Amino acid sequence: MTSYRIALLPGDGIGPETMAATQIVLDRVVAEFPDIQLDCQSHRAGAELYRETGETLPKNVLDACLAADAVLLSAIGLPDVRQPDGTEVQPTMMVGLRRALNLHSAVRPVKLYPGAPCPLKDTGAGIDFVIIRENLEGLFASFGGGSMVGDEVATDTLVITRAGTSKVVDYAFQLASRRSGRPRDGQRKVTCVDKANVFRSMAFFRKIFHDVAAKYPEIEHDAVYVDAMSLYMVQNPSDFDVVVMENQFGDILSDLGAGIVGGLGLGPSAEIGDKHALFQPSHGTAPQLAGKNVANPLATILSAGMMLDWLGQTHQDANCIAAAVAVENAVAEVLSQGQVRTPDIGGSSSTTDVAHAVAGAIHAAV
Ligand code: ATP
Ligand code: MG
Repeated sequence: MTSYRIALLPGDGIGPETMAATQIVLDRVVAEFPDIQLDCQSHRAGAELYRETGETLPKNVLDACLAADAVLLSAIGLPDVRQPDGTEVQPTMMVGLRRALNLHSAVRPVKLYPGAPCPLKDTGAGIDFVIIRENLEGLFASFGGGSMVGDEVATDTLVITRAGTSKVVDYAFQLASRRSGRPRDGQRKVTCVDKANVFRSMAFFRKIFHDVAAKYPEIEHDAVYVDAMSLYMVQNPSDFDVVVMENQFGDILSDLGAGIVGGLGLGPSAEIGDKHALFQPSHGTAPQLAGKNVANPLATILSAGMMLDWLGQTHQDANCIAAAVAVENAVAEVLSQGQVRTPDIGGSSSTTDVAHAVAGAIHAAV
């Protein structure tokens, strides 16, 4: 029996509801897989807390995240809760947490499940690729900095380092070596997305990509420009397997990725470091839906599935890997049956109904 300490940050808006739904699913996982024990501790962090106390992420909560085996976060931030400089609390808190946990690689699966709404007419051989976004530098390295010349000119700086880029590209190749499923053929592939024809920083990113690719001769690799990638994601999404890119490009293309496979309510994500990892849905707090039991919990549930997979890979725990597969299969089953779904994907079920449907579809034997 292995016990994992999980720090839960339910956050703001719809966050607490999608987290409660996910806990229903995790309770079922623990019941179906008796060799897995999850010691989940919930902590307050985010905009509501800031409104009350002036702090978004108290030190004891950050310490709990650092001490945990994994962090599961729902959604943070409220548009009407602002810091003295006028900005929302969410970016400050998330950049701080990322830096504290050294989460260098963000992972956004772009996978179309049968039964999920898709705005594309022709998805070719299906959609099943993963966006890996560098998570600590790039244009976001300028966060909190930048410079102004009077009220006339503003600049930010895009930083690409060999160390940071090697880490994220290496993570992309490692994921490509072990991940299951790619629609078109059996050949694994990693694609570098950049703007190497225009920017020195991006040319450097691509150079490091090629250096790292040389260590993985069994994996195909290629590179495309970010503008072309935006087109290909809509026209030929089945061409891709793992794609890796600079922070800001990843931020933008991740939302496009969520859009082609059913919207934000279905998009999970992981942020991975050498020691720590954090999992969260790709959507925000959708405050207008909060408290109504209508938010789609599937993105948070799928993020919890990614957490189980990461725990399994990191601790070489086959039970956890099997539990991750069971969670994803249960979500796929509920989506393909089509009866229980929230309004954002065309249904009329509640957040809680979806949680119970997914929990009921968890089976230990796959
Ligand atoms: P952030 O600023 O935190 O990135 P955002 O304002 O860009 O967030 P979200 O809060 O994620 O965006 O949501 C935008 C809209 O998408 C919401 O107003 C809501 O209509 C819809 N939405 C997002 N997540 C969900 C969900 N889980 N279930 C249902 N609808 C959702
Ligand atoms: Mg928002």
